[in-house]
Amino acid sequence: MERESSTNEVHDVLIVGGGPGGSACAYWLASAGWDVVVVEKKRFPRDKTCGDGLTPRAVKQLADMGLEDSLTGAHRYRGLIAYGFGRTMELPWPAHPIFGDYGYTITRHDLDGIVADHAAKAGATVLQGSEALSPILEHDARPDPSSSRPKCATPSTIPYCAGARVRDSETGEIKELRARYVVVADGSNSRFGRALGTSRDRHRPMGMALRTYYTSPRHDESFIESHLDIRDASGNVVPGYGWIFPMGDGRVNVGVGLLSTSARWKGVNTTELMNTFVNWAPRSWELTPQNCCGPATGGKLPMGLSVTPWSGENTLVIGDAGGAINPFNGEGISYAYETGRLAANSLDLALGGGGREALATYARDLEETYSSYYAVGQAFVRMISNPSAMRVCVGAGMHSEFLMTQLLRVMANLMRPDVLGPAEIGFKGMKAASRTLDIYRGLKRPPAT
Ligand SMILES: Cc1cc2nc3c(=O)[nH]c(=O)nc-3n(C[C@H](O)[C@H](O)[C@H](O)COP(=O)(O)OP(=O)(O)OC[C@H]3O[C@@H](n4cnc5c(N)ncnc54)[C@H](O)[C@@H]3O)c2cc1C
Repeated sequence: MERESSTNEVHDVLIVGGGPGGSACAYWLASAGWDVVVVEKKRFPRDKTCGDGLTPRAVKQLADMGLEDSLTGAHRYRGLIAYGFGRTMELPWPAHPIFGDYGYTITRHDLDGIVADHAAKAGATVLQGSEALSPILEHDARPDPSSSRPKCATPSTIPYCAGARVRDSETGEIKELRARYVVVADGSNSRFGRALGTSRDRHRPMGMALRTYYTSPRHDESFIESHLDIRDASGNVVPGYGWIFPMGDGRVNVGVGLLSTSARWKGVNTTELMNTFVNWAPRSWELTPQNCCGPATGGKLPMGLSVTPWSGENTLVIGDAGGAINPFNGEGISYAYETGRLAANSLDLALGGGGREALATYARDLEETYSSYYAVGQAFVRMISNPSAMRVCVGAGMHSEFLMTQLLRVMANLMRPDVLGPAEIGFKGMKAASRTLDIYRGLKRPPAT
């Protein structure tokens, strides 16, 4: 029997979802002294389907939160080995003035609890086993104290959200949690976001991925492996990649990711793709049925900030809930941390006296930080969705270590701000080309006024 209760308490910020985005946002807000409450429907440690790969970008965010020492049990790796069209290339992470030249693999079972716990230690209230069932949508009678205008300046279809109805998974009790601001961080399916009115732009890239674990004698390798010419059951190259990520704990994380942007790839069966990849993978990994740790599980990867609006009257949308995954490589953990941090910055301004109008800085920061990069990413995805173009690009790349090194910099978003090197020049060229194709213009949103 479900019981309902409510209190008069109004928190500064309610965050729905305690994954990388929600926990990072909570950490930064709590560190700034705000009263923040996170509701997470699962209990940590909990499993989460992922490739478990942290790039130097993600490591930087963890280090900024003071968490790199907590990764001592994680597996540190030095770069990527690319396989494609019969060739192999070892690509170490490049030197960079901001990001380190190493990454980690760590299960989300271990990682997500570490960050949520850190947010709690910084002062956030993290309510585990607490599912946000629905937003509390009610007319906001209170004027925004910072503004003479009645409404937030950000154009929005997300109405004022006073909080959420939250169910405790153990007791079944449903209570209302109220807050001045709400952050949507509930991941790629984002039911809470959809209930508030977010939607995905179907013209932007979307990925599907599957993964499982195998025990392997090569679990401790210092490079992760990426296979760029995965094939469907009929032997056709598909736009995506297969990966084998050593976990350093006796296991490797094995998976396939497929871009489902173009209609022709929508029918591809990812389970068959995974089986084909595993059968074809180098024997030395010993990806045998006996070594398989369990059935593969999958998920969606909404990319290129494809879910909008990013903000509403008093709401911000972050991480996968906002479709923040990098279209070039399917990386989403660092972008969840980063967008969580940008949201915390805007909320800090809003709570510190800027009022709801300050939330407009979030959309502006997203535009400035990602829009041109993701627009080029979308052009890249369109190009490789064409099998002939894909063969030409990957085939040419795999003949030149120099080219692949530069491409890795671009694809992992590790271009240098201080030097105009080949990768940076190449990216400018790609940007100009995508603008010419008029893709860039279609992607760029008008800046928030
Ligand atoms: C197969 C696969 C492989 C991937 N591999 C990688 C990789 O190697 N590296 C990488 O960087 N990215 C990878 N990604 C992407 C990455 O997993 C996501 O981008 C990342 O998890 C996004 O973080 P998030 O906080 O936005 O969402 P999530 O991690 O999904 O967290 C959302 C949280 O919200 C909770 N929640 C949901 N609804 C509610 C609710 N109503 N109330 C309360 N809580 C709720 C969920 O339980 C969850 O804990 C992969 C994705 C897939 C599917």
